[in-house]
Amino acid sequence: MTPQQETVLSGIRSTGSLHLGNYFGALRNFVRLQETHHCYYFIADYHSLTTHPAPEDLHNNVRRIIAEYIASGIDPEKCTLYVQSDVPEICELYLLLCMIAYTGELERTTTFKDKIRKQPGNINAGLLTYPVLMASDILIHRARWVPVGKDQEQHLELARVFARRFNNTYNCEVFPEPEAFNFGANLVKVPGLDGTGKMGKSEGNGVYLTDTPEIIRKKVMKAVTDAGPTEPNQEPPEPVKNLFTIMDLVSQPQTVAYFREQYASCSIRYGDMKKQLAGDVMNYLTPIREKFNQIVNDKAYLGKVAAEGREKARASAAKTMTEVRKAIGINRL
Ligand code: ATP
Ligand code: MG
Repeated sequence: MTPQQETVLSGIRSTGSLHLGNYFGALRNFVRLQETHHCYYFIADYHSLTTHPAPEDLHNNVRRIIAEYIASGIDPEKCTLYVQSDVPEICELYLLLCMIAYTGELERTTTFKDKIRKQPGNINAGLLTYPVLMASDILIHRARWVPVGKDQEQHLELARVFARRFNNTYNCEVFPEPEAFNFGANLVKVPGLDGTGKMGKSEGNGVYLTDTPEIIRKKVMKAVTDAGPTEPNQEPPEPVKNLFTIMDLVSQPQTVAYFREQYASCSIRYGDMKKQLAGDVMNYLTPIREKFNQIVNDKAYLGKVAAEGREKARASAAKTMTEVRKAIGINRL
């Protein structure tokens, strides 16, 4: 493989603290990939501006998320960890890609149509061109692999369209076409503890990586269940299935097997199952929380990580932009 084929890129929006869904759906894969690939991971602070966060909230979120990335095992020595707004080349590429992106294809994006329904009072141009900025994030490093959840597949398809169109328009081969990366076929979707749907920052139903044991216990003990199985071997309803899904991720296989057997034989006590689950979630998250607490207020360390990430990201971005400008004919006179 050439270095370009090995380049991986992914980011997380700075919209709030990270939860178990972000960990098992994204971060855990980021940690594995940094061992084998040339990885760029970033905090997508520009992307979070579509909802106009208060400046101090935005700033604190960016700092927290860098600390959460590192606490979860991202190693700034093994990958390039940076903040999106530290790399102005991304904005330049965004402007240039806007010239080849058609409003029709952007208006047809499912996430855009969703936003029109959900926040009719704030349909800003940033929301419409969100996929162009995302394509710029990826193409600026000419990344080949993008580990993202299923929700991002359509945006990634647009990134491929823009890469191809740029190459065709300017008769060059500056950009490779990026593809979704996942380990095996089963993309994990971590459910919330409220019975239905996925765990999400905006859903407010998350177990956060930095929750204290006391908070974890409260959240898990309050999780929705039902009155219990009435017949042997019946299919559990969604809220109970969700508890098993989370247990599969954090508990020992024999523990999960024990509670499945209890469910199948109608002798399950949800209180016991939740106590076990709460304990296993705590065990899983304790090292992450401890590491996070150690570094989150160490401004000198986090500042150094961000500065080193910025240097490496800008060096790679500058190389791409030299090629891009040359292809378009934007050269110094
Ligand atoms: P928001 O509610 O602001 O959209 P989010 O919780 O959905 O936040 P994102 O920043 O959109 O988080 O996503 C970051 C990464 O985490 C993405 O790769 C996404 O696919 C993954 N992810 C988010 N929630 C889950 C989940 N419940 N299960 C698995 N992966 C998830
Ligand atoms: Mg999301």
